[in-house]
Parts: sequence; C-alpha cells; structure tokens
Amino acid sequence: MRIMRTIADVRAAVGEARDSGSTVGLVPTMGAFHEGHLSLMRRARAENDLVVVSVFVNPTQFGVGEDLSTYPRDEQRDAALAREADIDILFAPPLTEVYPRGFATTIHVAGVTEVLDGASRGPHHFDGVATVVTKLFQIVAPDTAYFGQKDAQQVLVVRRLVRDLDMPVRIVACPIVREPDGLAMSSRNVYLDQDARRRATALNRALDAAEALVAAGRKDRDAVIAVARAELEASAIQPEYVELRSTDDLRELDRIDSTALLLVAARVGAARLIDNRTLEVSP
Ligand code: AMP
Repeated sequence: MRIMRTIADVRAAVGEARDSGSTVGLVPTMGAFHEGHLSLMRRARAENDLVVVSVFVNPTQFGVGEDLSTYPRDEQRDAALAREADIDILFAPPLTEVYPRGFATTIHVAGVTEVLDGASRGPHHFDGVATVVTKLFQIVAPDTAYFGQKDAQQVLVVRRLVRDLDMPVRIVACPIVREPDGLAMSSRNVYLDQDARRRATALNRALDAAEALVAAGRKDRDAVIAVARAELEASAIQPEYVELRSTDDLRELDRIDSTALLLVAARVGAARLIDNRTLEVSP
C-alpha cells in the first residue's frame, strides 16, 4: 500500500493503472476506521483492480460548534487497517492540498439536502460533502465509489450530484454495520461514556420496533413514528428527528405503500448519532 499526500501523485498512479486496463474503486472516508469502513473497503477490493481509500476530515462539512477539532484522528492505525484490507493507495492529503489559498467553489445540491441532516446541521453540511466528493471524483476518477447506507441521506445527495453533473461514476451503497448490541458503528461512538453508550442502543431498538409494527401490518406514518419515539423516550433520548421518507428523494410519506426510509438523529451524551432503516411492506 502506498500513502499519498498530493493530488499529482494520486493522478499519476491512477493514470498508470488505468492505462494498463485496471478498474478503479474509491472509498471516501474521514478516517478513524471501524468495521463499517472496512466493509466498504472489502467490497471495493473484491470489485476493482485498484482501490483508493481517502482519509480527509473535511472541515467544510462541519458547522460552528460541531466536533471538527475533537473528531478522532489516528492515521497510523488507519494505515495499518487499510494495509490489512489490501488497499492499494491511501490518499491522506493535508488541508491545503484540498483547499488551497483562494479556494472559492461550492457545489450545492438542492432538494434532498434541505431536510433531515440538512435542516438539523445546516446547509453547509451537504455543501461541504458535495464539494469534497466532487473533488475526490475529479482527482481519482473512479469507476465505482463506495458509500455506507448508514449515511442514507448522503448516499442520495451523492447519487443526485452524479446524475446532475453527468459524472461517470457508479455509486454503491453498502449495508449498515452494527455492534453486537445493534448500535450502528460510527467514528463518533468514541464520544459515548458508559451510560450514553448503553442508552445509544435505543436508536436501533426504535428502528426494530418500527419494523416489527410494519411487519404486523401497520402502514401509517404516525403509528410507525410513535412506536419508534416511544423506544427513544424509554431511554431518555429526545430525538432531533424521527421521520418517514421516500427511499428515492426523501419525500415525506403519510403511509408506506412499498418501501420507505425511517431515519433518526439524536444527541446521546456527547455524541450526535444517526441511524436509519428501510421498511418494506409485503405486497
Ligand atoms: P465517515 O468516515 O464517517 O465519513 O464514513 C465513511 C464512509 O463509511 C461513509 O460512506 C459512511 O456512510 C460509511 N460508514 C460509516 N459508518 C458505517 C457503518 N456503520 N456501516 C456502513 N458504512 C458506514
């Protein structure tokens, strides 16, 4: 595995591989790897000749008062895990390589960015995501890029971006990887103290409860959301949102006719956590 710091080095290495007919996969990350990240890397490894993993804690997607300065960083550990996952290139650029002096461009995706985390965290968040993902796609020019369904809204933002700007990149969304007790893996789980860590399992239980209700035949939004909220409240969690939305464009839904996304965000102790579940009614 090669660790690269510059855009020029990545372009040269990817260009050479591509000239010899290799397919290229990209896994964009902010580092602090866990099994969620590794699942994306394994999928990319299985499907591509050359795999690039980027590690960049992107400041433009963090808001004032968010956790940019405390976000976990451990490049040595990440490099060791990426090497174990047989990654070819770890692209870990310094801030000025991605945002040099005078940087002035923002990519804004309308619509799907305006609800849920876009409303909760503010418009800068998905502007930051769309801008850095566009840059990474320009730098690496992957055939396929791998994202986690954990960040379901982000996947839809990236899909919209790729369609609207005619980017020749296939987007693959990988399933949510969970801890044995159901908590969705996240780099931010390190912020949880013992009590918060225990209460945090309520997010997955809320999604389970909603799924069970749907399996029992209930399809209306209010009932589905109420049962999820009750699980959160039982663990003294006041969610930022619990919402039922369409899987393709995040329209608000009154009822589930075929599939729907149930999405939840909540502050638990020192961490802001998100989770989601695709709910399906049998025809
Ligand atoms: P991050 O480093 O948090 O920006 O995440 C990098 C990529 O890993 C994103 O596409 C995330 O959606 C994905 N990811 C994060 N946590 C998980 C998880 N628990 N399961 C699957 N994918 C994940």
